[in-house]
Amino acid sequence: MMNGAQYVESLKKLKPRIFYRGVRLDDPYGHPALAPHVRTAAATYDLAAGGQHDEIMTATSNLDGAKISRFTHLFWSVDDLIRKIAMLRLIGRETGTCFQRCVGLDAINALWSVTYDVDKAKGTEYHRRFRTFLARLQREDLMSAGAMTDPKGDRSLAPWQQADPDLYVHIVLRRPDGVVIRGAKTHITGAANSHEIFVMPTLGLPPEGADYAVACAVPIDAPGLSLVFGRQSNDERKEEAGTIDCGTEWGVVGGESTLIFEDVFVPNERVFMAGEGEFAGSLVDRFSAWHRANYGGCKAGNADVLLGATALLAEIHGTIKNSIVRDKLTEIVHLVETNFAGAIGSSALGKRLPAGNWLVDPLLANTVKQNVTRFVYQVGRLTHDIAGGLLSTLPSDADFQSSEVGGLLEKYFAGKEGFSTVDKRKLCRYIEGMTSVSTLVEALHGAGSPQAQRIVMLRQADLPEKTRQAKKVIGLGKDRK
Ligand SMILES: Cc1cc2nc3c(=O)[nH]c(=O)nc-3n(C[C@H](O)[C@H](O)[C@H](O)COP(=O)(O)OP(=O)(O)OC[C@H]3O[C@@H](n4cnc5c(N)ncnc54)[C@H](O)[C@@H]3O)c2cc1C
Repeated sequence: MMNGAQYVESLKKLKPRIFYRGVRLDDPYGHPALAPHVRTAAATYDLAAGGQHDEIMTATSNLDGAKISRFTHLFWSVDDLIRKIAMLRLIGRETGTCFQRCVGLDAINALWSVTYDVDKAKGTEYHRRFRTFLARLQREDLMSAGAMTDPKGDRSLAPWQQADPDLYVHIVLRRPDGVVIRGAKTHITGAANSHEIFVMPTLGLPPEGADYAVACAVPIDAPGLSLVFGRQSNDERKEEAGTIDCGTEWGVVGGESTLIFEDVFVPNERVFMAGEGEFAGSLVDRFSAWHRANYGGCKAGNADVLLGATALLAEIHGTIKNSIVRDKLTEIVHLVETNFAGAIGSSALGKRLPAGNWLVDPLLANTVKQNVTRFVYQVGRLTHDIAGGLLSTLPSDADFQSSEVGGLLEKYFAGKEGFSTVDKRKLCRYIEGMTSVSTLVEALHGAGSPQAQRIVMLRQADLPEKTRQAKKVIGLGKDRK
């Protein structure tokens, strides 16, 4: 397994085509926009290699029995599902932000299970290929991103009905030795600092959409692949590294990129679905179920830091002993632990798939994510309430350093004795970043918009069975007319 420094070194061997604010980056991993996300991903490697959290951060490969990072491991039992949630909470707490790596982890599990199903039904060889690819991923401890979301153009039209057929990634050429793909994937977390990208379809597809049913692995520096690194709330603060205004050395959310595939050739050994649209829906559903449960783990870890920061700020404000403030903190605890409990519950009720790996309970997993779309906003509101207007109006670090007004600001921003204004400002900047629009929208749309969960929830709730039960218990249909 790699440690953080080795991971960063491994990135330097790559030659990806990454753009940010109109410029192609020569040294993307050292650029202030990306560097905080590289540091966060490096922290996941250090936590795995450090030996202190082996039970949570590492696992035994089901492919060759080697000790591997849990981020390259298949969920081989309920215990693995639960340990994954524990891992997400641990890293969320250690970094205080999005650490990017859960998308690739869920992608390998989805691809493992669906390639198995496709091969069984159609006699293809996707599962063997995927197994070989996964063995390398585990052996070399590579970071992978999961690229499912297409730009989608006009949402009322199917992929092949769009005015521009490239608005969903599709196969434009089938060759004896592989396929050529064109299109784009948007919002892809951690892609810019991953080694490999898993491309997956974003929806189930009928026969006329077969060319859109493509799943494959593309190296980050594949010819024809360009990445455009996105903006985030307050992202210019990253250029103020070393100042308090920067907020956090880790960056806010996961460093998302738009990936543009301009006729990228993918050799057969990296192609895991190429036209079997009837299996694309299972791929999306399983990936989403695992991914939606995650949010109860990572967001709880982030909220551990946010809750601590908010409580400290209340102490500096002198409000921490007030029963109303304490009740607001209690409400944060309630919201966070409800999500965590759902994530653990959906894992505990997991079921074995035909390919041998275990799927979380989809109803509970989707319920977790539905709650996250609300609770993260509510937690943010409570932190804003307790913190006060400073979150919005705090003067810059440069003003606090100013020989003319710095002393005055120190005087007027003082809080409870024993705390410095530096502590106060750092806490404000962290809370500001971690409750910014970027963070909130990640909670809302990441792993699917709220409506996507509601569709699965109603399907999984099995209304016909529940109405039958209601009739039985209440005794309907027995009364005389
Ligand atoms: C921070 C962040 C990180 C992300 N990371 C990843 C990642 O790593 N990998 C990845 O693949 N994706 C990622 N995503 C993408 C995420 O899965 C999508 O944002 C999500 O699925 C919603 O898709 P969309 O953004 O295109 O919004 P839309 O699908 O356009 O949704 C916008 C609204 O339109 C509604 N809507 C959509 N279609 C219809 C329709 N046909 N009829 C009626 N209403 C409709 C939705 O319900 C929603 O209310 C990330 C997103 C964010 C914000």
